[in-house]
Amino acid sequence: MTGLVLKDIRKSYGQVKVIHGIDLEIQQGEFIVFVGPSGCGKSTLLRMIAGLEDITGGEMWIDGIQVNDVPPSKRGIAMVFQSYALYPHMTVYDNMAFGMRIAGESKEEIDRRVTSAASILQLEPYLDRLPKALSGGQRQRVAIGRAICRDPKVFLFDEPLSNLDAALRVATRIEIAKLNEQMADTTMIYVTHDQVEAMTLADRIVVLSAGRIEQVGPPLELYERPANLFVAQFIGSPAMNIMPGKIEETGDNTVISLRDGSRVTVHIPTQAAEKGKTASFGVRPEDLSMTTGDTYLFEGKVSIAEQLGEVTLLYVEGPVEDEPVVIKLPGVVDVSKGETLRFVADPEKLHLFDDNGRTYLGR
Ligand code: ADP
Ligand code: MG
Repeated sequence: MTGLVLKDIRKSYGQVKVIHGIDLEIQQGEFIVFVGPSGCGKSTLLRMIAGLEDITGGEMWIDGIQVNDVPPSKRGIAMVFQSYALYPHMTVYDNMAFGMRIAGESKEEIDRRVTSAASILQLEPYLDRLPKALSGGQRQRVAIGRAICRDPKVFLFDEPLSNLDAALRVATRIEIAKLNEQMADTTMIYVTHDQVEAMTLADRIVVLSAGRIEQVGPPLELYERPANLFVAQFIGSPAMNIMPGKIEETGDNTVISLRDGSRVTVHIPTQAAEKGKTASFGVRPEDLSMTTGDTYLFEGKVSIAEQLGEVTLLYVEGPVEDEPVVIKLPGVVDVSKGETLRFVADPEKLHLFDDNGRTYLGR
């Protein structure tokens, strides 16, 4: 098959195991995003795909060829790093042309590819400039242009926007999304810890934690149906509220008692055998809303109200001691510190996790 196949990929540095067996199939043309906390192995995995790190165990296949022992230059891969590493004494044109000159491409072919990359990235006005005469965002576009010129089968990005300020990040992210459309046959693998980048760019997100895959799926699938507590709390911002409790009633709906004695009904089925087990229930800040009625999910005192203009964030003393429940309400909501309020959520939007942190299936 074309694309990329990782079979039980492992990596150790000396005695220390950092990647514990990754199985992943990536289709040609897919945009895959690796997310996960710092140190979970995202860069290591990417560098193994690029051939910049030895593979300790398992098999790596690119376009039907096992590449474990194929050097980086023969893998048909281009990589863009967080630091752009341009040659300071070369113009933008020469920076982009350099790799092709080394590879002995003809002058015409070099010119064709540089011109095309410059046009995709709107770099035409800057081709004669030196890197020092460019902004950070423009420099990163040159680094991306240089990678495009290699005409790679697989394009790897390791946190390429993390050195840019907020506005440039957005602009360059949109460039990368366009690039992905224009290079529809090129597989892209992108590492980030930025949620918005992951959600907006990815065809599928791979959530990693401590060298293992927690879940792979399209962005909204991870958001709506996280496989476990880790993914539930990693995807979405602010993170999902989690409240530990015990299963009181099983059946098509499940009733959980929380530590403060309150009860919550979720539209998720559980088996009779699960009665009495520890479980936690989860609700996203944006799935909660205020009510003045007598039926409510929980009641609590507002400890902090943050007005962000587009949304209001409330931190409320909820059913779990010392762990405020976060509520995200659209727009400006007039709430003051110290007020006691009631909150509801659509029972369809509640999540239920077992004592091992796995999501109860059934939806
Ligand atoms: P991420 O990119 O997700 O932040 P990395 O892939 O850089 O994580 O690192 C994964 C783990 O491997 C970390 O614990 C890191 O300390 C370790 N590591 C990375 N490179 C080396 C190395 N050259 N030698 C030893 N340990 C390393
Ligand atoms: Mg990294």
